[in-house]
Amino acid sequence: MEHRIAETLKILSDSDKQACETVRTTENEPFLGKKRLFIESYGCQMNFADSEIVASVMRDAGFATTADVDNADLIFLNTCAIRDNAEQRVRKRLSQLNVIKKKKPGMLIGVLGCMAERLKSKLLDEEKMVDIVTGPDAYRDLPRLVEEAETGQKGVNVFLSREETYADISPIRLNSNGVTAMISIMRGCDNMCSFCVVPYTRGRERSRDPYSILKEAEDLFREGYKEVTLLGQNVDSYKWKQSEASVNFAGLLEMVAKISPELRVRFSTSHPKDITDEVLYTIKKYDNICKYIHLPAQSGNSRVLEIMNRTYDREWYLERIDSIRRILGDDCAVSHDMIAGFCTETEEEHRDSLSLLEYVKFDFGYMFAYSERPGTPAAKKFADDIPADVKQRRLAEIIDVQQRISLERNQKLIGTLQKILVEGTSKRSKEDFTGRSDQNKRVVFPREHYKIGDYVDVMITECTAATLRGHAVSEVPVLH
Ligand code: SAM
Ligand code: SF4
Repeated sequence: MEHRIAETLKILSDSDKQACETVRTTENEPFLGKKRLFIESYGCQMNFADSEIVASVMRDAGFATTADVDNADLIFLNTCAIRDNAEQRVRKRLSQLNVIKKKKPGMLIGVLGCMAERLKSKLLDEEKMVDIVTGPDAYRDLPRLVEEAETGQKGVNVFLSREETYADISPIRLNSNGVTAMISIMRGCDNMCSFCVVPYTRGRERSRDPYSILKEAEDLFREGYKEVTLLGQNVDSYKWKQSEASVNFAGLLEMVAKISPELRVRFSTSHPKDITDEVLYTIKKYDNICKYIHLPAQSGNSRVLEIMNRTYDREWYLERIDSIRRILGDDCAVSHDMIAGFCTETEEEHRDSLSLLEYVKFDFGYMFAYSERPGTPAAKKFADDIPADVKQRRLAEIIDVQQRISLERNQKLIGTLQKILVEGTSKRSKEDFTGRSDQNKRVVFPREHYKIGDYVDVMITECTAATLRGHAVSEVPVLH
């Protein structure tokens, strides 16, 4: 618990918390003669969780985190390579940091994560002031690489492992509100979606020992946390086997849910080809497993899904949605990822994506224009032949439909009671608290006498497409 106060990462953009364009930076902790480490993290929740591992490794090597980039001894950018604009952003940031480095020559700059893995030592040639390049499986080696860089050599380790899960490293909770935390349950991805760089930057899929996951969740609960999110690129393919014993994702969910009915359990990301009815029934069985599923679609057209190598078609996806509705009902929230303008996508195929949104009535979506990534199967096999303006127009149409549906879904909740876990003070008003409902909807309400970490029943009175607003009706100490 002592870590929690000082070591927080600032969420710069709250509205798109999970979206790949979010950036988080470290905050100050007491230095007490230690060297100062500034970490700026880009990309998905997995990257933010990795920065917590990095902070832990570096603390053991004598570093304390800082929010002050100008006075840092060591700067790490934990990067994302998923789309070209994510990489451009990091390059722009590196040129800004170069200005600081020129004034402070002893300062070291490291590029970590997916962009480091994708470009490897090429990054040192391209970005001359970078001293350290470290891939997602080499974070244990960071103290050595930093020492090497301190002697003037460049430190590079982009070795991808088949075993590394950092199971024994206790992450330092960055960005901590003291209430919600992320737990990595697996690393890498074996799926080879043709557009995606992740299998090349994060390596083969491997699942973490379930008992280390359980211990981490129990420790968090003991420290006062009330919600954990289990993270993986495809949580449904989680599989742990040791001699006769094996644990699948449904089993893991159940183990974590049993810690306490007061600990909410979330998970991300589900994959349409792997999410089983067993998982859906486990969600149904435990009130503290949140009724919210992020189920990326990527396209609503079967031919496009096939060339994306998603290994399911439109009918399969809709059958999974129908199963969610059959087992968990209309109250279960579902969100999606959708890509506009993938190679060879016709107008008619694009309209299939729009009609999928209309059929499913997703609560929320993360929507992107296709960005060709060098080295991926799509880049090798297909021409990136949809003009940029067409991609942007299709993306805008997808966003428009989703915004309207998100608003409709939220309007349905007006007049209902939603159980909110209070996460903090609203950015707009000190008088209001903000938290999330079981269905992962952001809810704002007058704080009255409630505290951060309380479960509060909130009567919903108004909404936008992104947020619900209401007032507290009673405090609910335990979920039933
Ligand atoms: N593992 C998750 C899955 O299978 O859906 C998603 C991981 S990825 C970090 C997040 C999202 O980025 C993907 O679901 C996809 O919509 C989007 N994405 C990945 N590669 C992309 C590309 N080349 N261009 C545009 N969007 C992309
Ligand atoms: Fe990328 Fe597909 Fe793996 Fe998701 S499942 S990380 S989209 S390869």
